[in-house]
Parts: sequence; structure tokens; C-alpha cells
Amino acid sequence: MNSTELWIATTNRGKVLEFEMILEPLVKAGLKLHTLADLDTYYPPEETGQTFLDNARIKARSMKAMKPGAWIAAEDSGLIVEGLNGLPGVHSARYAGPKASDFENRAKLLKIMGLKMLSNRNAAFVCSMVVFDSEGTEHLFDGRLEGVIPKAEAGKNGFGYDSVFIPQGETKTLAELGLAFKNKVSHRARAVEQLQRLLATRMGLA
Ligand code: IMP
Repeated sequence: MNSTELWIATTNRGKVLEFEMILEPLVKAGLKLHTLADLDTYYPPEETGQTFLDNARIKARSMKAMKPGAWIAAEDSGLIVEGLNGLPGVHSARYAGPKASDFENRAKLLKIMGLKMLSNRNAAFVCSMVVFDSEGTEHLFDGRLEGVIPKAEAGKNGFGYDSVFIPQGETKTLAELGLAFKNKVSHRARAVEQLQRLLATRMGLA
């Protein structure tokens, strides 16, 4: 591996924590992790894509322009709800408005599902990741976690929609189950694990 620096194109602390936990063995072996928070200035690109992959690529390219020659990982993720024809989908971060908080987004989701009296509460978290290696080659990874939306939120661990998502086969929300559980099963964990394998190979560790 020419460079052991990986730039993660996010400022979302929840996402960064998940990357850090999964990549910890590589960090111990010399990988250095950076995020957008380590840049002096950064103007986030508009996420105008129609798909998670489009938006992940927009973020990855913007980061690559700032850090040519470094490894870059950008992901776009969100919640798709069957009974809402896939919404909030790529609009997950802005579901309740352009500057909506996680709390407002969750409140809107539960309210709309209640108003529609949806019996189909099946949902999935999805993650699309675009990675540029130090030579500029693009790699695509993804992950998906199936589950259901409960009628009320529960749990304090996690971020975003974690407290309104019960993974398939479980009775508690991701925010109740906690990060160690989430990192074994989540959409983002699946994608980061694929990144981890690529990095390990390039670092001569696999
Ligand atoms: P992004 O940062 O543009 O990818 O927006 C992702 C949106 O989906 C935000 O509202 C997040 O809170 C939500 N989201 C993505 N992944 C997760 C997750 O793992 N748990 C809870 N919410 C998530």
C-alpha cells in the first residue's frame, strides 16, 4: 500500500464511530483514519443524485479532489420503507425538511406511518460506498439490513433512525441493541468489512 491514510468523507460522528470500531485492527497495524472534521475548510457538495450510489460517488469525488493520492471512502445510506414506496430513501437525512434533525425525521416517519395505518412496516437500511485507492481506482461496496419500523421509538444508543428500526429476528431497536450488535449486522458494517478486506490485502496483512 503506497499510503496508509484513509480519508472518510463524513462528519457524522455516529458513522465515524462505526468505521473506527470495524477498522480498529488495521489502525493498530498502521492505518491512519481521517474525516472531514480534520480539514480546515470543506464545502460539502450538493447530494443531487437519484441513488445512494450516485450520492456516495459525489462525496467521494469531492473528497478526492481535496486529497489526491490518499485512500478515500464515502458512503451514502438511508432507510427505505416498503409501505412508503421506498421513502425516505435518498432523502433520509432531509425527510422532515432541508435542515431537519434526526428527531424530526423520526417523528415524521412515525406520524406518516400512523396516519396511513400501514400494516406493512417492513423496511431496510442500505449503504452504498465508493472507495478510491491511492492509485485512484474506484471500488464499490454495499450492504443492507432488513427489519421493521415499530410504532414508537425506543433506545438511546445510536443515531438517525436507529431508535425506530428493529432488525429482522430481533425484538428491540438498533438503539437498544447497541453499537457492538449493530456492527455485526448493519448495512454499513457490511460495506466497511469489504473495505477492510481490500485494505488488509493492500497493507500485506491478509
Ligand atoms: P447521509 O449522511 O447523507 O448518508 O444521510 C443518511 C441519513 O440516513 C441520515 O438521516 C441518517 O441519520 C440516516 N442513516 C443512515 N445510516 C443510518 C444508520 O445506520 N442508522 C440510523 N440512521 C441512519
